[in-house]
Amino acid sequence: MVRYISTRGKAPVLNFEEVVLTGLARDGGLYVPETWPQFSKDEIRSLAGMSYADAAAFLLQPFLGECISEADFKAMTAKAYASFSHKAVVPVRQLDSNDFLMELYHGPTLAFKDVALQLLGLLYDHLLGRQHRRATIIGATSGDTGSAAIEACRGRDAVDIFILHPAGRVSDVQRRQMTTVLDANVHNIAIEGDFDDCQAMVKAMFNDLEFRDELSVSAVNSINWARVMAQIVYYFTVGVSLGAPERPIAFSVPSGNFGDVYAGYAASKMGLPIEQLIVATNRNDILSRFFNSGEYRKSSVDPTISPSMDIQVSSNFERFLFDLHGCDGAAVSALMQKLDDEDGFAVNMSLLNEGIFSAGRCDEAETLATIRRTLEESAITVDPHTAVGLKVGQECRKTADTPLVTLATAHPAKFPDAVEKATGEHPALPKHLANLFARDERMMQLPNDLGTVKSYIRERARILSAV
Ligand SMILES: *Cc1c(COP(=O)(O)O)cnc(C)c1O
Repeated sequence: MVRYISTRGKAPVLNFEEVVLTGLARDGGLYVPETWPQFSKDEIRSLAGMSYADAAAFLLQPFLGECISEADFKAMTAKAYASFSHKAVVPVRQLDSNDFLMELYHGPTLAFKDVALQLLGLLYDHLLGRQHRRATIIGATSGDTGSAAIEACRGRDAVDIFILHPAGRVSDVQRRQMTTVLDANVHNIAIEGDFDDCQAMVKAMFNDLEFRDELSVSAVNSINWARVMAQIVYYFTVGVSLGAPERPIAFSVPSGNFGDVYAGYAASKMGLPIEQLIVATNRNDILSRFFNSGEYRKSSVDPTISPSMDIQVSSNFERFLFDLHGCDGAAVSALMQKLDDEDGFAVNMSLLNEGIFSAGRCDEAETLATIRRTLEESAITVDPHTAVGLKVGQECRKTADTPLVTLATAHPAKFPDAVEKATGEHPALPKHLANLFARDERMMQLPNDLGTVKSYIRERARILSAV
């Protein structure tokens, strides 16, 4: 049975149920599995022809231990992926002879985060419901995470969800995808500040252990292990459809918090033959700089047309660092302390050169040019995040003989301004969101003040009333 340990080595060892409900480890670290489930070539081959939901149940069951029965979990994956508007859930398109695009954006909010969050919402319901417990979900968003988390938790009796976004600093589509969800357990808070202010407040609430216990606070951002776990599945399913396990595959992953590409790394640890994992960043390039120099150093955040990757530091990166240092929690703690004190640290490049990662960055002009070129050459409209993946993928791929799969992380209509600027055409929202701009909105604007936000949440979280 897989158990979960903290990357800082000082928090209790947990089982799957505890790790889903906890989110962040109490020592400030992130939970990772102690061992990786292994899949043989025959088992990987057996994925061919399975539905996406069945493949997810098959690949993820070992991570659950005894916490959820096979039948219950199979029902959950079936339900989670029935909410996608494409029968294949994550269809693959061909761009060139050996270049492919995996469309991860057919979920309810049009970004890849639905793949994990639709499942996480059901996990909360199941795990909390059977204990007659409730939890309070708190998160900060610069756009996509918030709407995907809200969509996953809306109307669920076991959870109340509070999402902080920077007032006036998310796109109209992104804001409306959150604020037009009117279920009583959904609380949108517009903070008079920027995204870093929102994130700092959420962090402070998590570090207040008394508040955290009182309200049973859980995290839906990608520090929650279940998020990363659910993302492992599509690396396997697309890999098998392109010839794995006989043929190795390369992936290019538009990256911000390193959750998605870390799931690819997990897939390789579990037996999928991945030749290359390409970490693609926009000009907020801390990850690209790290993989090319060994130095991980903070810098300021520049707003870009691929805003879901505008980050200063990558939260999931700590999971990779832990692996890189032989699962030594003390070593990771020391590096994270250094990041706080000195804004950066370096690791030995020889550690990185043996790995499967490559990385590169793409600036704004290149992003627009890639959107335009992809439409001209392959008749496919991509969003700016996907364009970053395509551009860096071409630059970093080792060989044209290995199929290269770029992850299409958002629907182009989610970022209409950038797409229109590149192509001259305004991408239309899919049918289920077509009337988004006619719907009523509900949100609360609050000052950038921790005390005010905490009392707002405390007054509304139903955790304090009986289930
Ligand atoms: C969140 C997001 C990313 C970045 O994913 P990480 O797991 O944070 O690296 C890329 N593209 C889109 C559209 C996203 O919403």
